[in-house]
Amino acid sequence: MTQKCAIVTGAARGIGLATADLFLEMGWKVAMVDRDREELLKVATERKDVLAIVRDVSIPADVEHMVAETKGWAGRIDALINNAGVAEFGPIGDCTFQMWRRVMETNLDGVFLCSQACTEALKETRGSIVNIASISGLRASTLRVAYGTSKAAVIQMTKQYAAELGEFGIRVNCVAPGPVRTKLAMAVHSQEIIDAYHDAIPLNRYGSERELAEVITFLASDKASYVTGQVIAADGGFESTGVGLPALRK
Ligand code: NAD
Repeated sequence: MTQKCAIVTGAARGIGLATADLFLEMGWKVAMVDRDREELLKVATERKDVLAIVRDVSIPADVEHMVAETKGWAGRIDALINNAGVAEFGPIGDCTFQMWRRVMETNLDGVFLCSQACTEALKETRGSIVNIASISGLRASTLRVAYGTSKAAVIQMTKQYAAELGEFGIRVNCVAPGPVRTKLAMAVHSQEIIDAYHDAIPLNRYGSERELAEVITFLASDKASYVTGQVIAADGGFESTGVGLPALRK
């Protein structure tokens, strides 16, 4: 039971899957959690040292099972990566309470439930939590009243947990990704949005899943042993340029 173990939520695809793969390359075991049974079981059977956990992070009983199953399998939890997320974009006038709740249930309640449920196990390993927010949580923009608010709350929650869990040796940090061509992003990014991102981002491109995974696993590793309560935007420079009007750069 000396091999380190990470729980990665939303691990069936996208940034979560790339993060799971990088932990495996680092020699960790990974509890891969996702509510998409078919996709999760497919990717899990292709990998060694993983446990597939078909659970929904927004359901308290599921989260309790997730922790028990991981502890039973690996005997320990060294990192919790709160990555599972949903995106629903639309004008404020079209944001129903149902849509608001769907976004909050996964993006905000899920992070809270998983963090609460893993805290005791993380105390035993002096482990860490990495929350995945978004550049949409760092500044306001149109169409994201629910998504942007959920991600801004995740950033604040990161600081709350870091402040209170530091005395147990638990570090809590946050990664705010810029655009990455995952299923989540492609469902809400029109060609117009893709072009605008390319113009506005100093590095002039989308990020890759792997580039996000590198930052996430760094923060979870001992290399970041004196880093807590931080938010790192892995976004090609998007956030640092403020409104980043493309016309101002020409
Ligand atoms: P994705 O849709 O490709 O993958 C998300 C995974 O989470 C899916 O497999 C999905 O089934 C799972 N999931 C969703 N809700 C769940 C729940 N309640 N319980 C368990 N599993 C659940 O998305 P992605 O682009 O890889 O996004 C990962 C994270 O990065 C999200 O939190 C997202 O908000 C954030 N993010 C993504 C981008 C981007 O451009 N892709 C940008 C900023 C932030």
